[in-house]
Amino acid sequence: MQSGGDHADDEPREKCGVVGVSLAERPAARPLYYALYALQHRGQESAGIVTHDGFQQHSHVARGLVGDAFEAGDLESLAGSTGIGHVRYPTAGSLDKSCAQPFSVSFKSGSLGLSHNGNLVNADEVRAELAAAGHAFTSDGDTEVIAHDLARNLLEEDLVRAVKHTMQRIHGSYSLTITHDDTVLGLRDPMGNRPLCLGELEDGYVIASESAAIDTLDGDLIRDVRPGELVVLEPDGSGYDSYQLVENDATAHCFFEHVYFARPDSVIDDSLVYEVRRELGRQLWAESGVETDVVMPVPDSGRAFASGYADAAAETDADGAPRPDDEAGIEFAEGLMKNRYVGRTFIMPTQDERERAVRLKLNPIRSTVEGKTVTIIDDSIVRGTTSTQLVELVREAGAEEVHLRIGAPPIVAPCYFGIDMATREELIAADASTAEIRDTVGADSLSYLSIDAVAAALESSRADLCLGCVTGEYPFDVEGEETDRSIDAPSPDAPTAADD
Ligand code: SF4
Repeated sequence: MQSGGDHADDEPREKCGVVGVSLAERPAARPLYYALYALQHRGQESAGIVTHDGFQQHSHVARGLVGDAFEAGDLESLAGSTGIGHVRYPTAGSLDKSCAQPFSVSFKSGSLGLSHNGNLVNADEVRAELAAAGHAFTSDGDTEVIAHDLARNLLEEDLVRAVKHTMQRIHGSYSLTITHDDTVLGLRDPMGNRPLCLGELEDGYVIASESAAIDTLDGDLIRDVRPGELVVLEPDGSGYDSYQLVENDATAHCFFEHVYFARPDSVIDDSLVYEVRRELGRQLWAESGVETDVVMPVPDSGRAFASGYADAAAETDADGAPRPDDEAGIEFAEGLMKNRYVGRTFIMPTQDERERAVRLKLNPIRSTVEGKTVTIIDDSIVRGTTSTQLVELVREAGAEEVHLRIGAPPIVAPCYFGIDMATREELIAADASTAEIRDTVGADSLSYLSIDAVAAALESSRADLCLGCVTGEYPFDVEGEETDRSIDAPSPDAPTAADD
């Protein structure tokens, strides 16, 4: 996993978004391009599209934001009415174009394209086993490992059985859109760690990381792709088939998707992200509300938390008693302005410059904070750098008290499944108590949300969530780490098609 240590952002960062479409006649390139725009928040390092015109595969992958990675001519050259797309910030693999996606390859029985969101935890073992069998790799990414394994199985058996055999060998987090010639597939790992959903368009079907991409194409969300499910779109856009390739008793949805990564207008695993964030804000008030003059969000993701927090504060006081009619509760106000033009992949070489970068990104609105007691709501604290700067900024703008409320539990451990979170050494909560962090960031008080409150807001049991980064116990078998359940990990030694 890459460390986020050289980046200005003191925030966890999603690393990939995927999409696939199968249309009746229309070229797929433009809808894929629009869908990638809708998923841009999930990856800003590179963007790519692979299409198939019934005869051959076409690919364009380039560095940069979607708007910079494609020119009109590129879209024209991506012929065919089926295809997949990808936006990426690097997960496994180095930061260069050979790791940009979709990964595409041609082999004896056809062509493959793969877009991957997530991270395998046994990629090295599977790669070694494939390399020993004569496969030559062009990148150090885990997506190529999946591609080679699938290509090998496809030489021996049909598509669905080939995918099933690959699933029996890979272990970790994956939501994939795949092209096999002109057939588009969607595949979600048996734990459903990263999101993937299915939608219907006027003239076809779409599979995407988030439903906001389906909305952008004027489509209707059908449902989430189920954990362990393979969805195969008809090449003529007329329908889809579903295969439940692996059954599982429990899931391991990444709770951070709802807390932070996903767009608030997306529906993920049956919950509208915006409403979950408002509920997290309400829970935050119930657990650790503090009576201040104003509550203000850290833009943008803190906004829904703060509005839920303010709503709950209008109903009850901080002790949970109903608020008298003549008491207004806490004013919700915007107190921090975000500079939208400071990129998320802004590279800052030194700690000192990273600290100054917060001032590039956020500026206080003096009238909201001057002479007031203030609660700031944020979604997470990673290294603590941003929070320290924020508290300082708001104090400098004249706040009398600054209280910090976080809409997630403390992040105590890294993520191995496709989120750029920082290393354990960089995580402030890895070995500091909440009181120590409060003192470090300089707030008058600091509270995090409990894990139970997160599960309640998601209407889920803890056992169905991935909580690895807040418990240090993971739902996948990560070398050197504890697990939170008994795991029957797939293995590179699982039978291949040839063994059957
Ligand atoms: S470790 Fe944390 S960020 Fe990573 S998948 Fe699990 S919940 Fe999400």
